[in-house]
Amino acid sequence: MSLAIYPGSFDPPTLGHLDIIRRAALIFDEVKVCVMKNGAKSGAMFTPEECVCLIGKITERFNNVTVSAFDGLLADYIEDFEKPVIIRGLRAITDFDYEFQMALVNKKLNSKLETMFMVADTRYTYLSSSVVRALARSGGKLSCLVPAEILDAICREARGGVKPESLSQHQAK
Ligand code: ADP
Repeated sequence: MSLAIYPGSFDPPTLGHLDIIRRAALIFDEVKVCVMKNGAKSGAMFTPEECVCLIGKITERFNNVTVSAFDGLLADYIEDFEKPVIIRGLRAITDFDYEFQMALVNKKLNSKLETMFMVADTRYTYLSSSVVRALARSGGKLSCLVPAEILDAICREARGGVKPESLSQHQAK
């Protein structure tokens, strides 16, 4: 069984993230999306648990994709798995420096950790969670940036509204 682990903060998940998940799910027997709790950035929109719910909603149709949150280092998270491959997305050369450094640091921390990079689809190379957060908070149109299933939750959260109940109810697969 080949296993891909796709770590990130996914706050919120975008069409770019979903495209990487979809493509990884075609290549690997199993894909585990992992919301890293220590990856939270300033100006967060959702808690890691809420991000797990959002990813659960947009990946329901994939029967080999699961999602969970982890509080700690990726090097420790992968210990439970036999031959995990870490998937990271590369949007532009600007991603490369950081990703290259992280891959090397992770390898140093745990020698069985292998990182593979997937090149972002040209439709999504400009797209990041921070762009979505900024646009959402300014009332911008998000329908071509995030999956339709979670558009409402993001708009509501940006307006400071009450979170939909379903966000706290989703059971991680
Ligand atoms: P992190 O804080 O770990 O960078 P992100 O949620 O921002 O978490 O991103 C998770 C992974 O998804 C990273 O490898 C990032 O490069 C990749 N990614 C982010 N946006 C896109 C996109 N639009 N297309 C492809 N990959 C992306």
